[in-house]
Amino acid sequence: MAGKKKETTLQVSATNQEQWEEILATKGLTVVDVYQRWCGPCRAVISLLRKINNELGDDLLHFATAEADSIDALEKYRGKCEPTFLFYGGGELVAAVQGANAPLLKKMIVDQLAEEKLVLEHDGERKVVVDHKLVDDEKIEGEEDHHHSEDGESIIVPASKSYTVAVIKPDAVAHGKANEIIMKIQDAGFEILARDERTLTEAQAREFYQYKGTEDCFEDLVQFMSSGPSHILVLSKLEDSSNVVKAWLHFIGPANIDEAKRQKPESLRAQYGTRTLFNAVHGSEDADQAGRELAFFFPDFSTAPGTAQDAEEERVERTLALIRPLVARENREEILTHINKSGFQLSLQREVMLTEEQAREFYNHRVEEDYFPALLQSMTRGPVLALALTREDAVQHWKNMLGPSDLRRAKEEDPECLRARFSMEGDPVNQLHGSQSTEEASREISFFFPVQQTLAVIKPDAVDHHKDKILQEIRDRGFSVRRLEEKLLSREMAKGFYKEHRKQPFFSQLVEFMCSGPSVMMILEKENAVEEWRAAMGPTDPDRAKAEFPDSLRARLAPDVLRNSVHGSSSQKRAQEEIQFIFGEQTGITDTSAKNTNEATLDKQKQQYEGDTHESNLHGPPK
Ligand code: GDP
Repeated sequence: MAGKKKETTLQVSATNQEQWEEILATKGLTVVDVYQRWCGPCRAVISLLRKINNELGDDLLHFATAEADSIDALEKYRGKCEPTFLFYGGGELVAAVQGANAPLLKKMIVDQLAEEKLVLEHDGERKVVVDHKLVDDEKIEGEEDHHHSEDGESIIVPASKSYTVAVIKPDAVAHGKANEIIMKIQDAGFEILARDERTLTEAQAREFYQYKGTEDCFEDLVQFMSSGPSHILVLSKLEDSSNVVKAWLHFIGPANIDEAKRQKPESLRAQYGTRTLFNAVHGSEDADQAGRELAFFFPDFSTAPGTAQDAEEERVERTLALIRPLVARENREEILTHINKSGFQLSLQREVMLTEEQAREFYNHRVEEDYFPALLQSMTRGPVLALALTREDAVQHWKNMLGPSDLRRAKEEDPECLRARFSMEGDPVNQLHGSQSTEEASREISFFFPVQQTLAVIKPDAVDHHKDKILQEIRDRGFSVRRLEEKLLSREMAKGFYKEHRKQPFFSQLVEFMCSGPSVMMILEKENAVEEWRAAMGPTDPDRAKAEFPDSLRARLAPDVLRNSVHGSSSQKRAQEEIQFIFGEQTGITDTSAKNTNEATLDKQKQQYEGDTHESNLHGPPK
């Protein structure tokens, strides 16, 4: 049972019964990401799992992915769009976690590994659970009142964090707005500690709203709240955790929809509520009520003092790595494999052709050094590969891997270090760079990856069936959604939007298609957003996408080159123009970094250099 590809060597993959049985037969604790074929395993957690694996360094801890579609034992998980993590020990299910909930996953892994060791080393009794999702279908009436989980799954947050309970009500869920609202919640800096989708029974709705029992609307409220699924969220605030209850109430706006629309048009209720009864979201009124509501929805939820693990979590940091042109051409894959194996997550990557002026700016603190001219030359003879690497203690760890910066010393004192191994005959400077400190890392990362905005569009072919999936992927890839609007383009708008293609034979088809139904227009923000979003989309033609970038959105979702599901601006300049065209607003980000004032020149130089050598295969192609 071998890992499928480089990126997933951490996880053994099971796509048939035989491989599944091998996983079950593995000694120790195995954490299985159960996924659907159409969306693949959950990429968002890989770095977390890798980090936990490195920290625990335990031979008894294993990770796997399992395709629900092709394994009979996982039949009940087919068609579920949220990732599910099943924990197996001795071939038996010992815990289950729904959703990519990082703190909960981490806690579960640590706890369950300890439990499994107890079982193995001290003949302890293994606590086997039944995942309630597995038995949902067989649930008989009358059992529904047991809304708390019976699988021993408990959620623990540090007592230092305050929390509130939020409900996305049946009206918003029925209108298909749950994911959109959840993205907005996360973008506003709320952390989701727990999440559950559930239809309240009338009795539960009555109990939940008992404090409104005397109000005229009570019966209507009970009917409404039990009319369909709600999403229940436990929220805390990422930064300032002291005022989450108030912050959430502020964010959702007044309960009265007219008032919300008048006074707080940006609030969730103003945007998603239709009348005061159907006001889309709920929030606990104060900390006491939050406590009661938490106990109501998640009876197993408990609070615990902050642990050492939380402190460690905070040490996760980024560093900038540069692979200079010669080595980038010759040894890129080998170096990337080293990086990958060392537990780094490659969070940003970019190939850049620097001008001498830019190289000088980047290394301006080295101007006085003897080797400065050689360094400038080395940096500008072809595209540099820039990487932002993430893990705990990233700066120091990468420095250790690099070894001494003086090549002669590197070779003599530490011949196994990367600088010694990947040097270039005839080039006196080392071929790999790493930031010296976290402050320098942050400066250097923004030099190569400035925060940008781009226009992203979910085109008419994808709005109905793939909208939620695409929004989730946007979130997982770390983009912030600054604006989101569903719009039906007029012919005039569509023509204007694609005016650069007006001479193309497919222009009229393209305009027809873009007016054939609503599109979701978004402003996305992230470091290096323009390229990052184009990489996520993949090449224009889905056939090419399937062949070269099978994980990209177009490879997975687009039916043909015309109806290719998503759009993304092709350059920063286009992004500014398109955002202005669609939303009538400036990007709000002035990017003054040397790299980008000169974007066109850079791209041209890079193309010339690539000429008939090779095309960058880091990201989706430029076009
Ligand atoms: P994009 O930046 O990747 O969207 O690609 P372009 O700007 O080159 O093209 C704009 C849009 O025109 C594409 O997204 C497709 O919807 C459509 N398109 C591009 N090339 C073709 C083609 O060869 N045939 C057809 N029918 N449509 C195309």
